[in-house]
Amino acid sequence: MQNASYDVAIIGAGPAGLFAAYELALKSNFKVIVIDKGKDIKDRKCSLQFFTKCLKCEPCNILCGLGGAGGLSDGKLNLRADIGGNLKEFVDEPDELIKEIDSIFLKHGAPGKLYGKNLKELEKLASQHGIKFIPIPQRHIGSDLLPKVISSFKKELEEKGIEFLLEKEVKEIEKEDGFKLILDDGVIKAKFVLACVGRSGADWLAKQAKKLGIKTRHAPIDIGVRVEIPSVVMEDIINKAWDPKFHIYTPTYDDFVRTFCTCPNGYVVMEDYGEYISVNGHSTLHEKSNNTNFAFLVRIELTEPIENTTAYGKSIAKMATTIGGKKPILQRLGDLKAGRRSTWQRIEKSYVEPTLKNVTPGDISMALPHRIVTDIIEGLNKLAKVIPGINEDSTLLYAPEIKFYSMRFIVNKNLETNLPNFFVAGDGAGLTRGIVSSAATGIIAARGIMKKAK
Ligand SMILES: Cc1cc2nc3c(=O)[nH]c(=O)nc-3n(C[C@H](O)[C@H](O)[C@H](O)COP(=O)(O)OP(=O)(O)OC[C@H]3O[C@@H](n4cnc5c(N)ncnc54)[C@H](O)[C@@H]3O)c2cc1C
Repeated sequence: MQNASYDVAIIGAGPAGLFAAYELALKSNFKVIVIDKGKDIKDRKCSLQFFTKCLKCEPCNILCGLGGAGGLSDGKLNLRADIGGNLKEFVDEPDELIKEIDSIFLKHGAPGKLYGKNLKELEKLASQHGIKFIPIPQRHIGSDLLPKVISSFKKELEEKGIEFLLEKEVKEIEKEDGFKLILDDGVIKAKFVLACVGRSGADWLAKQAKKLGIKTRHAPIDIGVRVEIPSVVMEDIINKAWDPKFHIYTPTYDDFVRTFCTCPNGYVVMEDYGEYISVNGHSTLHEKSNNTNFAFLVRIELTEPIENTTAYGKSIAKMATTIGGKKPILQRLGDLKAGRRSTWQRIEKSYVEPTLKNVTPGDISMALPHRIVTDIIEGLNKLAKVIPGINEDSTLLYAPEIKFYSMRFIVNKNLETNLPNFFVAGDGAGLTRGIVSSAATGIIAARGIMKKAK
Protein backbone atom coordinates (compact mmCIF):
# COMPACT_ATOMS: atom_id res chain seq x y z
CA MET A 1 0.00 0.00 0.00
CA GLN A 2 1.23 3.53 -0.84
CA ASN A 3 1.43 6.24 1.79
CA ALA A 4 -1.48 8.63 1.39
CA SER A 5 -2.76 11.85 2.99
CA TYR A 6 -6.32 12.74 3.94
CA ASP A 7 -8.15 15.53 5.73
CA VAL A 8 -10.03 13.02 7.86
CA ALA A 9 -9.22 9.39 8.61
CA ILE A 10 -12.10 7.48 10.17
CA ILE A 11 -11.05 4.26 11.89
CA GLY A 12 -13.96 1.80 11.88
CA ALA A 13 -16.78 1.25 9.40
CA GLY A 14 -19.51 0.56 11.95
CA PRO A 15 -22.56 2.82 12.30
CA ALA A 16 -20.49 5.62 13.93
CA GLY A 17 -17.89 5.61 11.15
CA LEU A 18 -20.37 5.28 8.27
CA PHE A 19 -22.68 8.04 9.48
CA ALA A 20 -19.71 10.33 10.19
CA ALA A 21 -18.51 9.70 6.63
CA TYR A 22 -22.00 10.49 5.32
CA GLU A 23 -22.11 13.82 7.13
CA LEU A 24 -18.65 14.78 5.88
CA ALA A 25 -19.48 13.70 2.32
CA LEU A 26 -22.65 15.76 2.35
CA LYS A 27 -21.40 18.93 4.01
CA SER A 28 -17.66 19.27 3.44
CA ASN A 29 -15.07 19.06 0.67
CA PHE A 30 -12.76 16.99 2.83
CA LYS A 31 -10.82 14.07 1.49
CA VAL A 32 -12.06 11.26 3.75
CA ILE A 33 -11.00 7.65 4.17
CA VAL A 34 -12.76 4.96 6.22
CA ILE A 35 -10.44 2.17 7.34
CA ASP A 36 -11.69 -1.13 8.78
CA LYS A 37 -9.84 -4.30 9.71
CA GLY A 38 -12.83 -6.46 8.74
CA LYS A 39 -14.32 -7.43 5.41
CA ASP A 40 -16.94 -5.90 3.17
CA ILE A 41 -20.45 -6.79 4.31
CA LYS A 42 -21.03 -8.98 1.25
CA ASP A 43 -18.13 -11.19 2.36
CA ARG A 44 -19.17 -11.34 6.02
CA LYS A 45 -21.30 -14.46 6.09
CA CYS A 46 -22.19 -15.90 9.47
CA SER A 47 -24.77 -18.65 9.51
CA LEU A 48 -26.20 -19.69 12.86
CA GLN A 49 -23.97 -22.72 13.30
CA PHE A 50 -20.85 -20.57 12.83
CA PHE A 51 -22.05 -17.78 15.08
CA THR A 52 -20.08 -18.98 18.08
CA LYS A 53 -16.80 -18.92 16.20
CA CYS A 54 -17.29 -15.57 14.61
CA LEU A 55 -16.00 -13.23 17.23
CA LYS A 56 -12.47 -13.02 16.02
CA CYS A 57 -11.86 -11.33 12.69
CA GLU A 58 -11.52 -14.62 10.80
CA PRO A 59 -12.96 -16.48 9.01
CA CYS A 60 -16.22 -14.53 9.20
CA ASN A 61 -16.75 -12.00 11.84
CA ILE A 62 -19.72 -10.74 13.72
CA LEU A 63 -18.04 -7.69 15.23
CA CYS A 64 -15.68 -6.46 12.51
CA GLY A 65 -16.06 -5.21 8.97
CA LEU A 66 -18.31 -2.92 6.95
CA GLY A 67 -21.37 -2.23 9.10
CA GLY A 68 -19.40 -2.99 12.28
CA ALA A 69 -20.90 -5.02 15.11
CA GLY A 70 -24.26 -3.76 13.83
CA GLY A 71 -23.63 -5.26 10.40
CA LEU A 72 -24.77 -8.78 11.13
CA SER A 73 -26.82 -7.85 14.16
CA ASP A 74 -30.52 -8.04 14.63
CA GLY A 75 -30.83 -4.49 13.37
CA LYS A 76 -33.19 -3.10 15.99
CA LEU A 77 -33.21 0.64 15.68
CA ASN A 78 -34.06 2.29 18.99
CA LEU A 79 -35.25 5.70 17.90
CA ARG A 80 -34.93 7.51 21.22
CA ALA A 81 -32.22 9.91 22.38
CA ASP A 82 -31.67 8.42 25.84
CA ILE A 83 -31.45 4.77 24.77
CA GLY A 84 -28.00 3.34 24.15
CA GLY A 85 -26.39 6.47 25.54
CA ASN A 86 -27.51 9.98 26.31
CA LEU A 87 -27.33 12.19 23.24
CA LYS A 88 -28.59 15.19 25.20
CA GLU A 89 -25.08 15.44 26.65
CA PHE A 90 -23.87 16.57 23.25
CA VAL A 91 -26.76 18.13 21.30
CA ASP A 92 -29.78 20.22 22.20
CA GLU A 93 -32.06 18.67 19.57
CA PRO A 94 -31.20 14.96 19.51
CA ASP A 95 -34.64 14.02 18.14
CA GLU A 96 -33.81 15.79 14.86
CA LEU A 97 -30.64 13.76 14.60
CA ILE A 98 -32.51 10.53 15.22
CA LYS A 99 -35.09 11.34 12.54
CA GLU A 100 -32.26 12.00 10.11
CA ILE A 101 -30.61 8.64 10.88
CA ASP A 102 -33.93 6.80 10.57
CA SER A 103 -34.61 8.43 7.20
CA ILE A 104 -31.20 7.28 5.91
CA PHE A 105 -31.93 3.69 6.98
CA LEU A 106 -35.36 3.91 5.31
CA LYS A 107 -33.86 5.32 2.11
CA HIS A 108 -31.57 2.28 1.95
CA GLY A 109 -34.34 -0.27 2.41
CA ALA A 110 -35.19 -0.60 6.13
CA PRO A 111 -38.79 -1.83 6.60
CA GLY A 112 -41.41 0.89 7.04
CA LYS A 113 -43.13 -0.75 10.03
CA LEU A 114 -42.59 1.19 13.24
CA TYR A 115 -43.10 -0.48 16.63
CA GLY A 116 -43.71 1.36 19.85
CA LYS A 117 -47.01 3.14 19.40
CA ASN A 118 -49.94 3.04 21.87
CA LEU A 119 -47.85 2.05 24.87
CA LYS A 120 -49.67 4.08 27.55
CA GLU A 121 -51.47 1.03 28.97
CA LEU A 122 -48.22 -0.90 29.34
CA GLU A 123 -46.53 2.08 30.93
CA LYS A 124 -49.42 2.31 33.39
CA LEU A 125 -49.39 -1.40 34.25
CA ALA A 126 -45.62 -1.34 34.81
CA SER A 127 -45.71 1.69 37.07
CA GLN A 128 -48.52 0.12 39.12
CA HIS A 129 -45.97 -2.59 40.00
CA GLY A 130 -43.05 -0.27 40.62
CA ILE A 131 -41.39 -0.92 37.26
CA LYS A 132 -40.43 1.71 34.74
CA PHE A 133 -41.34 0.85 31.16
CA ILE A 134 -39.51 2.94 28.57
CA PRO A 135 -41.64 3.52 25.49
CA ILE A 136 -39.39 3.61 22.43
CA PRO A 137 -40.26 3.96 18.77
CA GLN A 138 -38.44 1.01 17.16
CA ARG A 139 -37.73 -0.32 13.74
CA HIS A 140 -36.60 -3.91 13.19
CA ILE A 141 -34.46 -4.52 10.12
CA GLY A 142 -33.46 -8.15 10.86
CA SER A 143 -30.05 -9.71 10.39
CA ASP A 144 -31.02 -11.07 6.97
CA LEU A 145 -31.97 -7.66 5.49
CA LEU A 146 -29.39 -5.49 7.24
CA PRO A 147 -26.44 -6.43 4.97
CA LYS A 148 -28.38 -5.20 1.92
CA VAL A 149 -29.14 -1.90 3.67
CA ILE A 150 -25.46 -1.46 4.55
CA SER A 151 -24.28 -2.32 1.01
CA SER A 152 -26.63 0.26 -0.42
CA PHE A 153 -25.39 2.85 2.09
CA LYS A 154 -21.76 2.13 1.20
CA LYS A 155 -22.55 2.55 -2.51
CA GLU A 156 -24.00 6.01 -1.83
CA LEU A 157 -20.96 6.96 0.26
CA GLU A 158 -18.59 5.88 -2.53
CA GLU A 159 -20.62 7.83 -5.07
CA LYS A 160 -20.21 10.87 -2.82
CA GLY A 161 -16.42 10.46 -2.80
CA ILE A 162 -15.70 8.54 0.41
CA GLU A 163 -12.79 6.09 0.09
CA PHE A 164 -12.88 2.75 1.88
CA LEU A 165 -9.85 0.73 2.92
CA LEU A 166 -11.10 -2.62 4.17
CA GLU A 167 -9.25 -5.60 5.67
CA LYS A 168 -6.56 -3.20 6.93
CA GLU A 169 -5.94 -2.85 10.64
CA VAL A 170 -4.60 0.37 12.10
CA LYS A 171 -1.78 -0.86 14.33
CA GLU A 172 -0.58 2.40 15.84
CA ILE A 173 -1.57 6.05 15.88
CA GLU A 174 1.25 8.58 16.05
CA LYS A 175 0.99 12.31 16.55
CA GLU A 176 3.44 14.31 14.48
CA ASP A 177 2.46 17.23 12.25
CA GLY A 178 -1.11 15.85 12.11
CA PHE A 179 -1.57 12.12 12.65
CA LYS A 180 0.11 9.04 11.24
CA LEU A 181 -1.85 5.80 11.17
CA ILE A 182 0.49 2.86 10.89
CA LEU A 183 -0.79 -0.15 8.95
CA ASP A 184 1.06 -3.39 8.20
CA ASP A 185 1.96 -2.21 4.72
CA GLY A 186 1.85 1.55 4.78
CA VAL A 187 1.00 4.78 6.51
CA ILE A 188 -2.06 7.00 6.30
CA LYS A 189 -1.57 10.65 7.20
CA ALA A 190 -4.49 12.78 8.31
CA LYS A 191 -5.17 16.20 9.81
CA PHE A 192 -8.08 14.82 11.82
CA VAL A 193 -8.61 11.35 13.24
CA LEU A 194 -12.04 10.07 14.16
CA ALA A 195 -11.81 6.79 16.07
CA CYS A 196 -15.02 4.75 15.74
CA VAL A 197 -13.56 1.38 16.66
CA GLY A 198 -16.48 -0.18 18.54
CA ARG A 199 -16.24 -2.78 21.30
CA SER A 200 -13.84 -4.93 19.27
CA GLY A 201 -11.31 -2.08 19.08
CA ALA A 202 -11.92 -0.59 22.52
CA ASP A 203 -8.93 -2.16 24.32
CA TRP A 204 -6.63 -1.16 21.48
CA LEU A 205 -8.01 2.40 21.49
CA ALA A 206 -7.58 2.66 25.26
CA LYS A 207 -3.90 1.70 24.83
CA GLN A 208 -3.46 4.30 22.10
CA ALA A 209 -5.13 6.88 24.34
CA LYS A 210 -2.71 6.11 27.16
CA LYS A 211 0.24 6.46 24.81
CA LEU A 212 -1.06 9.75 23.37
CA GLY A 213 -2.04 11.24 26.75
CA ILE A 214 -5.80 11.20 26.01
CA LYS A 215 -7.97 11.23 29.12
CA THR A 216 -10.40 8.36 29.89
CA ARG A 217 -12.27 6.93 32.87
CA HIS A 218 -13.88 3.59 33.83
CA ALA A 219 -17.56 3.04 32.97
CA PRO A 220 -20.15 0.79 34.70
CA ILE A 221 -20.68 -2.81 33.62
CA ASP A 222 -23.81 -4.97 33.16
CA ILE A 223 -23.75 -8.58 34.33
CA GLY A 224 -26.56 -11.11 34.21
CA VAL A 225 -28.18 -13.83 32.14
CA ARG A 226 -30.09 -14.37 28.91
CA VAL A 227 -33.65 -15.41 29.65
CA GLU A 228 -35.51 -17.69 27.22
CA ILE A 229 -39.24 -18.32 27.32
CA PRO A 230 -41.92 -19.56 24.92
CA SER A 231 -42.68 -16.68 22.56
CA VAL A 232 -46.39 -16.75 23.48
CA VAL A 233 -45.52 -15.49 26.96
CA MET A 234 -44.38 -12.12 25.61
CA GLU A 235 -46.43 -12.07 22.40
CA ASP A 236 -48.88 -9.34 23.43
CA ILE A 237 -46.11 -7.02 24.53
CA ILE A 238 -43.92 -7.73 21.50
CA ASN A 239 -46.81 -6.84 19.21
CA LYS A 240 -46.63 -3.33 20.65
CA ALA A 241 -42.93 -2.99 21.46
CA TRP A 242 -40.42 -5.10 19.57
CA ASP A 243 -37.67 -4.70 22.18
CA PRO A 244 -39.47 -3.73 25.41
CA LYS A 245 -37.26 -2.02 27.98
CA PHE A 246 -38.18 -2.49 31.65
CA HIS A 247 -36.15 -0.85 34.41
CA ILE A 248 -36.44 -2.44 37.86
CA TYR A 249 -34.95 -1.78 41.30
CA THR A 250 -34.65 -4.98 43.34
CA PRO A 251 -35.99 -5.23 46.91
CA THR A 252 -32.96 -6.66 48.74
CA TYR A 253 -30.09 -4.66 47.28
CA ASP A 254 -31.92 -1.78 45.59
CA ASP A 255 -29.88 -2.64 42.48
CA PHE A 256 -30.77 -1.52 38.97
CA VAL A 257 -31.81 -4.41 36.70
CA ARG A 258 -33.07 -4.06 33.14
CA THR A 259 -34.30 -6.05 30.18
CA PHE A 260 -32.16 -5.55 27.10
CA CYS A 261 -32.00 -6.79 23.50
CA THR A 262 -35.22 -8.79 23.31
CA CYS A 263 -35.18 -11.20 20.38
CA PRO A 264 -38.73 -12.32 19.57
CA ASN A 265 -38.84 -15.82 18.05
CA GLY A 266 -35.08 -15.60 18.18
CA TYR A 267 -32.01 -17.63 19.01
CA VAL A 268 -29.54 -17.52 21.86
CA VAL A 269 -25.95 -17.44 20.63
CA MET A 270 -22.57 -17.87 22.26
CA GLU A 271 -19.81 -15.29 21.91
CA ASP A 272 -16.25 -16.54 22.30
CA TYR A 273 -13.81 -13.88 23.46
CA GLY A 274 -10.91 -16.31 23.78
CA GLU A 275 -10.23 -16.06 27.52
CA TYR A 276 -13.94 -16.23 28.34
CA ILE A 277 -17.34 -16.75 26.74
CA SER A 278 -20.59 -14.82 26.98
CA VAL A 279 -24.08 -15.17 25.50
CA ASN A 280 -26.18 -12.92 23.31
CA GLY A 281 -29.31 -13.22 21.21
CA HIS A 282 -30.53 -12.45 17.73
CA SER A 283 -33.60 -12.85 15.57
CA THR A 284 -34.13 -12.68 11.84
CA LEU A 285 -37.08 -11.59 9.72
CA HIS A 286 -37.53 -15.01 8.12
CA GLU A 287 -36.01 -17.75 10.34
CA LYS A 288 -38.13 -18.05 13.49
CA SER A 289 -37.87 -20.18 16.64
CA ASN A 290 -40.72 -20.85 19.10
CA ASN A 291 -38.94 -18.89 21.83
CA THR A 292 -38.23 -15.30 22.75
CA ASN A 293 -35.05 -14.33 24.58
CA PHE A 294 -33.79 -11.19 26.28
CA ALA A 295 -30.85 -10.13 28.41
CA PHE A 296 -31.59 -9.48 32.08
CA LEU A 297 -28.74 -7.41 33.41
CA VAL A 298 -27.63 -5.98 36.72
CA ARG A 299 -25.77 -2.63 36.58
CA ILE A 300 -22.51 -2.65 38.55
CA GLU A 301 -20.61 0.50 39.36
CA LEU A 302 -17.47 0.31 41.45
CA THR A 303 -16.00 2.99 43.62
CA GLU A 304 -12.84 3.19 45.73
CA PRO A 305 -10.62 1.22 46.15
CA ILE A 306 -11.43 -0.73 42.96
CA GLU A 307 -12.89 1.17 40.04
CA ASN A 308 -11.84 -1.16 37.25
CA THR A 309 -15.20 -2.67 36.26
CA THR A 310 -13.65 -4.38 33.24
CA ALA A 311 -11.23 -6.39 35.39
CA TYR A 312 -14.08 -7.31 37.75
CA GLY A 313 -16.39 -8.35 34.88
CA LYS A 314 -13.65 -10.37 33.20
CA SER A 315 -12.91 -12.29 36.39
CA ILE A 316 -16.61 -13.22 36.69
CA ALA A 317 -16.76 -14.16 33.00
CA LYS A 318 -13.66 -16.34 33.37
CA MET A 319 -15.10 -18.10 36.42
CA ALA A 320 -18.39 -18.79 34.58
CA THR A 321 -16.38 -20.03 31.59
CA THR A 322 -14.44 -22.44 33.81
CA ILE A 323 -17.56 -23.79 35.54
CA GLY A 324 -19.31 -24.22 32.18
CA GLY A 325 -16.33 -25.98 30.55
CA LYS A 326 -15.99 -23.18 27.97
CA LYS A 327 -19.70 -23.32 27.19
CA PRO A 328 -22.54 -21.16 28.52
CA ILE A 329 -24.25 -22.53 31.64
CA LEU A 330 -27.92 -23.35 31.11
CA GLN A 331 -30.27 -23.58 34.08
CA ARG A 332 -34.03 -23.70 34.58
CA LEU A 333 -35.21 -20.88 36.82
CA GLY A 334 -36.95 -23.48 39.01
CA ASP A 335 -33.65 -25.30 39.56
CA LEU A 336 -31.87 -22.06 40.42
CA LYS A 337 -34.55 -21.19 42.96
CA ALA A 338 -34.42 -24.70 44.44
CA GLY A 339 -30.62 -24.54 44.78
CA ARG A 340 -29.90 -27.52 42.50
CA ARG A 341 -28.07 -27.75 39.19
CA SER A 342 -29.96 -28.37 35.97
CA THR A 343 -29.28 -31.54 34.02
CA TRP A 344 -30.33 -32.45 30.47
CA GLN A 345 -33.01 -34.75 32.00
CA ARG A 346 -34.48 -31.85 33.98
CA ILE A 347 -34.30 -29.51 31.01
CA GLU A 348 -35.98 -32.08 28.77
CA LYS A 349 -38.89 -32.23 31.25
CA SER A 350 -39.37 -28.53 30.72
CA TYR A 351 -41.61 -27.41 27.87
CA VAL A 352 -39.16 -24.72 26.75
CA GLU A 353 -36.69 -26.20 24.29
CA PRO A 354 -33.35 -24.34 24.36
CA THR A 355 -32.38 -22.72 21.05
CA LEU A 356 -28.70 -22.94 22.00
CA LYS A 357 -27.72 -26.58 22.57
CA ASN A 358 -23.95 -26.17 22.84
CA VAL A 359 -24.24 -25.44 26.58
CA THR A 360 -23.51 -27.05 29.92
CA PRO A 361 -26.59 -27.63 32.10
CA GLY A 362 -25.45 -26.48 35.52
CA ASP A 363 -25.82 -24.08 38.39
CA ILE A 364 -25.58 -20.37 37.71
CA SER A 365 -25.14 -19.63 41.42
CA MET A 366 -21.71 -21.34 41.17
CA ALA A 367 -20.67 -18.79 38.56
CA LEU A 368 -22.24 -15.42 39.34
CA PRO A 369 -21.97 -13.52 42.65
CA HIS A 370 -24.81 -14.09 45.14
CA ARG A 371 -25.91 -10.48 44.86
CA ILE A 372 -26.39 -10.76 41.09
CA VAL A 373 -28.26 -14.08 41.38
CA THR A 374 -30.58 -12.54 44.02
CA ASP A 375 -31.16 -9.52 41.78
CA ILE A 376 -32.05 -11.79 38.84
CA ILE A 377 -34.54 -13.90 40.80
CA GLU A 378 -36.16 -10.88 42.48
CA GLY A 379 -36.18 -8.89 39.25
CA LEU A 380 -37.95 -11.70 37.35
CA ASN A 381 -40.50 -12.08 40.15
CA LYS A 382 -41.27 -8.37 39.90
CA LEU A 383 -41.41 -8.46 36.10
CA ALA A 384 -43.90 -11.35 36.26
CA LYS A 385 -46.52 -8.88 37.50
CA VAL A 386 -46.34 -7.21 34.09
CA ILE A 387 -45.47 -10.32 32.04
CA PRO A 388 -47.20 -13.28 33.75
CA GLY A 389 -45.31 -16.53 33.26
CA ILE A 390 -41.88 -14.99 32.95
CA ASN A 391 -40.76 -16.40 36.32
CA GLU A 392 -42.09 -19.95 35.81
CA ASP A 393 -39.84 -22.85 36.84
CA SER A 394 -39.43 -23.79 33.17
CA THR A 395 -37.93 -20.41 32.21
CA LEU A 396 -34.41 -20.96 30.89
CA LEU A 397 -31.42 -18.90 31.96
CA TYR A 398 -28.08 -18.84 30.10
CA ALA A 399 -25.00 -17.39 31.81
CA PRO A 400 -22.95 -15.35 31.69
CA GLU A 401 -24.25 -12.42 29.68
CA ILE A 402 -21.89 -9.55 30.28
CA LYS A 403 -21.95 -6.18 28.61
CA PHE A 404 -18.55 -4.58 28.93
CA TYR A 405 -18.50 -0.94 28.15
CA SER A 406 -15.36 0.63 26.88
CA MET A 407 -13.28 3.11 28.80
CA ARG A 408 -15.21 6.35 28.62
CA PHE A 409 -13.29 9.02 26.75
CA ILE A 410 -13.42 12.49 28.23
CA VAL A 411 -14.67 14.66 25.36
CA ASN A 412 -16.14 18.08 24.73
CA LYS A 413 -19.58 18.58 23.13
CA ASN A 414 -18.04 18.09 19.67
CA LEU A 415 -16.55 14.75 20.76
CA GLU A 416 -13.03 16.06 20.54
CA THR A 417 -10.64 14.66 23.16
CA ASN A 418 -8.03 16.65 25.06
CA LEU A 419 -5.64 15.85 22.18
CA PRO A 420 -6.50 18.51 19.57
CA ASN A 421 -8.03 17.16 16.32
CA PHE A 422 -8.47 13.66 17.78
CA PHE A 423 -12.18 12.88 17.84
CA VAL A 424 -14.01 9.75 19.00
CA ALA A 425 -17.52 8.34 18.50
CA GLY A 426 -19.58 5.24 19.19
CA ASP A 427 -19.22 2.23 21.45
CA GLY A 428 -15.41 2.08 21.38
CA ALA A 429 -15.13 5.38 23.23
CA GLY A 430 -17.71 4.32 25.84
CA LEU A 431 -20.16 6.96 24.59
CA THR A 432 -22.89 4.66 23.24
CA ARG A 433 -24.33 1.14 23.20
CA GLY A 434 -26.43 0.79 20.08
CA ILE A 435 -26.73 1.31 16.35
CA VAL A 436 -28.68 4.58 16.34
CA SER A 437 -26.81 6.18 19.24
CA SER A 438 -23.41 5.31 17.77
CA ALA A 439 -24.52 6.61 14.36
CA ALA A 440 -25.64 9.84 16.06
CA THR A 441 -22.28 10.35 17.75
CA GLY A 442 -20.60 9.76 14.38
CA ILE A 443 -22.60 12.66 12.94
CA ILE A 444 -21.90 14.86 15.97
CA ALA A 445 -18.16 14.20 15.70
CA ALA A 446 -18.21 14.90 11.94
CA ARG A 447 -19.91 18.23 12.63
CA GLY A 448 -17.31 18.91 15.32
CA ILE A 449 -14.51 18.31 12.83
CA MET A 450 -16.10 20.67 10.30
CA LYS A 451 -16.46 23.38 12.98
CA LYS A 452 -12.86 22.92 14.07
CA ALA A 453 -11.57 23.14 10.50
CA LYS A 454 -13.24 26.52 9.85
C1 LIG B 1 -24.76 -9.86 18.07
C2 LIG B 1 -25.04 -8.39 18.23
C3 LIG B 1 -26.34 -7.93 18.09
C4 LIG B 1 -26.62 -6.55 18.24
N1 LIG B 1 -27.90 -6.12 18.03
C5 LIG B 1 -28.17 -4.79 18.10
C6 LIG B 1 -29.46 -4.29 17.79
O1 LIG B 1 -30.35 -5.03 17.39
N2 LIG B 1 -29.69 -2.96 17.91
C7 LIG B 1 -28.72 -2.08 18.32
O2 LIG B 1 -28.99 -0.87 18.41
N3 LIG B 1 -27.47 -2.53 18.60
C8 LIG B 1 -27.18 -3.85 18.49
N4 LIG B 1 -25.92 -4.30 18.76
C9 LIG B 1 -24.90 -3.31 19.15
C10 LIG B 1 -24.46 -2.50 17.93
O3 LIG B 1 -24.11 -3.36 16.89
C11 LIG B 1 -23.31 -1.60 18.33
O4 LIG B 1 -23.74 -0.78 19.40
C12 LIG B 1 -22.87 -0.70 17.18
O5 LIG B 1 -22.52 -1.45 16.05
C13 LIG B 1 -21.69 0.18 17.60
O6 LIG B 1 -21.27 0.92 16.50
P1 LIG B 1 -19.80 1.53 16.40
O7 LIG B 1 -19.72 2.17 15.07
O8 LIG B 1 -19.51 2.32 17.60
O9 LIG B 1 -18.81 0.29 16.47
P2 LIG B 1 -18.79 -1.15 15.66
O10 LIG B 1 -20.09 -1.32 15.01
O11 LIG B 1 -18.32 -2.09 16.64
O12 LIG B 1 -17.71 -0.86 14.54
C14 LIG B 1 -16.36 -0.70 14.83
C15 LIG B 1 -15.53 -1.11 13.62
O13 LIG B 1 -14.18 -0.72 13.86
C16 LIG B 1 -13.32 -1.69 13.31
N5 LIG B 1 -12.01 -1.58 13.98
C17 LIG B 1 -11.76 -1.71 15.29
N6 LIG B 1 -10.46 -1.52 15.57
C18 LIG B 1 -9.87 -1.27 14.37
C19 LIG B 1 -8.52 -1.00 13.98
N7 LIG B 1 -7.51 -0.93 14.87
N8 LIG B 1 -8.27 -0.83 12.66
C20 LIG B 1 -9.26 -0.88 11.74
N9 LIG B 1 -10.55 -1.14 12.06
C21 LIG B 1 -10.86 -1.32 13.36
C22 LIG B 1 -14.02 -2.99 13.55
O14 LIG B 1 -13.60 -3.96 12.60
C23 LIG B 1 -15.51 -2.61 13.39
O15 LIG B 1 -15.99 -2.91 12.10
C24 LIG B 1 -25.59 -5.65 18.59
C25 LIG B 1 -24.28 -6.11 18.75
C26 LIG B 1 -23.99 -7.47 18.56
C27 LIG B 1 -22.58 -7.95 18.72
